Amino acid sequence: MEIIRENCGLAGVFRNKRAAEILHACLFSLQHRGQEAAGIILGKDDSFSFHGNRGLVSEIFTSQVIKSMEGDYGIGHVRYSTTGSNSSRNIQPFFIDYKGQTIAVAHNGNITNSRILRSKLENQGAIFQTTMDSEIILHLLVRSRGRDIREKLAGTLKQLKGAFSILVFVQDKIIAARDSCGFRPLSIGKLSDSFIVASETCAFDLIGAEYVRDVEPGEMVIFSDSGIDSYKWTENIKKSHCIFEFIYFARPDSCIFGKSVYLTRKRLGENLAIECDFTADLVMPVPDSGSIAAIGFSQKKQIPLEFGVIRNHYIGRTFIQPSQKMRDSGTRIKLNPVKSIIQDRDIIVIEDSIVRGTTCRNRIRALKDAGAKRIMLGISCPPIKFPCYFGIDFPSKEELIANKMSVEEIRRFLGLDGLYYLSLKGMLDAMMLPAEDFCTACFTGRYPIRPDFSFNKSQWERKDGCDS
Ligand code: 5GP
Ligand code: MG
Repeated sequence: MEIIRENCGLAGVFRNKRAAEILHACLFSLQHRGQEAAGIILGKDDSFSFHGNRGLVSEIFTSQVIKSMEGDYGIGHVRYSTTGSNSSRNIQPFFIDYKGQTIAVAHNGNITNSRILRSKLENQGAIFQTTMDSEIILHLLVRSRGRDIREKLAGTLKQLKGAFSILVFVQDKIIAARDSCGFRPLSIGKLSDSFIVASETCAFDLIGAEYVRDVEPGEMVIFSDSGIDSYKWTENIKKSHCIFEFIYFARPDSCIFGKSVYLTRKRLGENLAIECDFTADLVMPVPDSGSIAAIGFSQKKQIPLEFGVIRNHYIGRTFIQPSQKMRDSGTRIKLNPVKSIIQDRDIIVIEDSIVRGTTCRNRIRALKDAGAKRIMLGISCPPIKFPCYFGIDFPSKEELIANKMSVEEIRRFLGLDGLYYLSLKGMLDAMMLPAEDFCTACFTGRYPIRPDFSFNKSQWERKDGCDS
């Protein structure tokens, strides 16, 4: 069984006549968190309606579909594309019927003891329909002892290890919860008398909702007709927000973990400018992910910012590349250099991160071909050397270029005149939250919690330097 790592997007609404429309809009604004599949489940009295499919939100939820969905509360999900897991069964929210009621869950993150939990459940006779972590949550929930949904869910969450921001749908309630580390974001908003929950606050802006607060690490928030109830489902709380959300994943117009992604990213660029001694004629981002750091870099260095490559925004998953020759120039289909800007110039390119190094290499080659004189590359985070077990879909250690090569070797591999990675200190200093509130495992190998891979030890080596 493959492991599915996922970093997805969640949205929820409680008591709004326009629930379908609202969830659709929220998922649309969270599309960057997952492009493989999307789904919405809505409740109305004691019935429900579900619609989900593979593809983009705009393809799945046509205006007819939205009109046909009835209900005034519900949850939705966008799913991140991971290789080999694009089964049409792996669509969320995942829902079941249990004792005459419909229960659904949508999940963002990666449950690190999922294999153990799953095989335990299977030994007890549980039949799984999907390969998603999220299904385990419902199996545990219906087995959980407790007087009410709060106690049952608390009992369930206590058995999970790893990263999970989740939304649960039961009759006349939605529940939002986060793991005890708060790896993945999850925020609460208000739209007149109704409540909204979303992975990122950019969803609130789109629907005109007001940000209220985050669901706290180790907290469960129940939205029902008696209002909102908050419970700490665990006392064992140790904040470890995913720092890569700030570096790459979240949208710059969002606030996550209470802080602006834009301002944080700009500070990453400023710190990069302070640390590295590159000089050039111009600074240019690799859009979109490098854009905000490039602004910070350019302003701090007082070197003009130019858009040396232009992004084609219409390249979707559906773009069929007609020939091998076109496939080879794949990156140029998405990003095309502007010759008149970069020809015969010394340029500093700002990129948010290097993972495998393959995309980056093609982009650098394209800039060379366009006539750049000297190319220096600044990366607004340190070298990524360790895999993520908490939801970012980094490849295995062996595929991470910084795990195999020194910075000088990477520079040569990429064909650069200079390469500089932001230091760990510089990255943490850019955060507007205390350093100890972050998980930096992909850079340091210090994992805040030890994934439970006991029956597959090869995936987990002590030399990763686990803290616990
Ligand atoms: P590489 O050169 O390592 O092949 O790719 C680096 C590029 O991938 C960077 O532009 C970075 O913004 C982007 N990137 C970083 N993390 C992710 C991710 O989780 N998913 C996707 N699709 N791109 C990523
Ligand atoms: Mg990028």
